[in-house]
Amino acid sequence: MKHIDDVIFVLQAHHFVLPEVLQEQVLTQTETNTWQIKEEIPTARRWKKPSDSMAMVQGLFSQGVTPREILGHLLPGHTMPSDMTNEIAIQLIMSLVYERRSRDKLPEYNTFKDAVELFRKSKNILILTGAGVSVACGIPDFRSKNGIYARLHKDFPELPDPSSMFDIDFFKKNPAPFYNFAREIFPGQFTPSLSHMFIKFLEESGKLLRNYTQNIDTLEKIAGIQKVIECHGSFSKSTCLSCKNEVDSEEIREDVLAQKISYCKKCKTGVMKPNIVFFGEDLGDDFHEQISEDIDKVDLLVVIGSSLKVQPVALIPFNIDPDVPQILINRELLPHYQSDIKLLGNCDDIILALSMAIGGEIKDEMVQG
Ligand SMILES: [Zn+2]
Repeated sequence: MKHIDDVIFVLQAHHFVLPEVLQEQVLTQTETNTWQIKEEIPTARRWKKPSDSMAMVQGLFSQGVTPREILGHLLPGHTMPSDMTNEIAIQLIMSLVYERRSRDKLPEYNTFKDAVELFRKSKNILILTGAGVSVACGIPDFRSKNGIYARLHKDFPELPDPSSMFDIDFFKKNPAPFYNFAREIFPGQFTPSLSHMFIKFLEESGKLLRNYTQNIDTLEKIAGIQKVIECHGSFSKSTCLSCKNEVDSEEIREDVLAQKISYCKKCKTGVMKPNIVFFGEDLGDDFHEQISEDIDKVDLLVVIGSSLKVQPVALIPFNIDPDVPQILINRELLPHYQSDIKLLGNCDDIILALSMAIGGEIKDEMVQG
């Protein structure tokens, strides 16, 4: 039963333990400690088409329905954990909306050496990047409970958790916390990492099919990568929430740097929102159109510095041909994702070691760069 499987996928990604009530009603734990489905969610409750379902979810959000309430509707009769944040609730909704296939590890690919060979011979590499490739650039970790959030929480005690800064519902009611912190990640202050440069050199060698990034820092474009999809949008443009007037984000730079809410210069009253995909918003058409094309072309998938928590991007590895090899380059293992080769450590360290081993142009470029 796919849909409850997807819920567990999200829960595992968040190291979340299902509350007992939910376990008893939906799942039974087997002797091998894996979950089995006890009962089916009524078919009529399932949302099949992502676009229709997303429109429905967005419609509900705009009417002020909370993610919790929507979940309650999707999983009737189940009690949600009381400390479940909006972020997790929204991801659970997404996991019910989007399809995920299962994948078995390919036994023939295992080692660093196998990874080097795969990089050498592959011609259509799809690279999925997350926050890990930008850590070395000094982009602060705005998702952690410490750091930026701790500071914001003092001034904005109404901010329930770090992700609320990217919660569209919260932003509409109160854009002040977002504008208070946006200065710290606003583009123009950071330079690309070795990992970004590696992707650029793969592109120059004609090996890159596409870089799907979950980052909003625009560092892929600064590195010169052309074949990039900014899955969660970026700071480069901003749109008025009220009249939809779209401007280059340079126009809001002054306000952002002064930590002031930026208002629309056209209608004067609407709040400007950078074109970042907030929780509760669907990803752009660019993403959906490009990934449906790329899924048939990819011959190697590499996840770099992502914990694959945010859907639907996190579903890409599960939706390509199961015979296409997959490599994970990350600081830690991911409990819900089984890649063929796992290279654990700092992204830049691993990328540099890989470049040296791959040799040729890539090595020359990386050494010079
Ligand atoms: Zn406006």
